[in-house]
Amino acid sequence: MAGEPQADCLFCKIVAGTVPATVVRETETTVAFRDINPQAPTHVLVIPKAHYADAASLAAGAPDLAADVLREAGEIAAQEKVDDHGYRIVFNTGAGAGQTVFHTHAHVLGGRGLQWPPG
Ligand code: 5GP
Repeated sequence: MAGEPQADCLFCKIVAGTVPATVVRETETTVAFRDINPQAPTHVLVIPKAHYADAASLAAGAPDLAADVLREAGEIAAQEKVDDHGYRIVFNTGAGAGQTVFHTHAHVLGGRGLQWPPG
């Protein structure tokens, strides 16, 4: 069911603490941790603790929680001091767009020049 923990979900396991992660910030509803394969000097993933497969299903099923994730992405940018020079919030959605973990996550990328369009 939407929002319920999934036994086979890597990010649900990070929320539960059964898979380790370098957590940089946590709220009642979200967790932010460093990406294991960083693509920029700052590369933090912000996830809702509740399981939603992608950003659209999160926004449709729990709009307040989607807002929490976006707000936290901004808080991370400020905490990491990448907000002055610009940063990027990315939600890869679907395998064809590069999504590999089907638990909504915002990539917060910064600390270097970011090109547009992305690859
Ligand atoms: P996606 O490709 O789904 O948009 O992003 C998934 C991200 O999760 C990737 O950037 C990948 O490096 C990261 N990732 C995959 N496994 C782990 C893990 O076990 N720990 C952490 N911290 N990040 C992970």
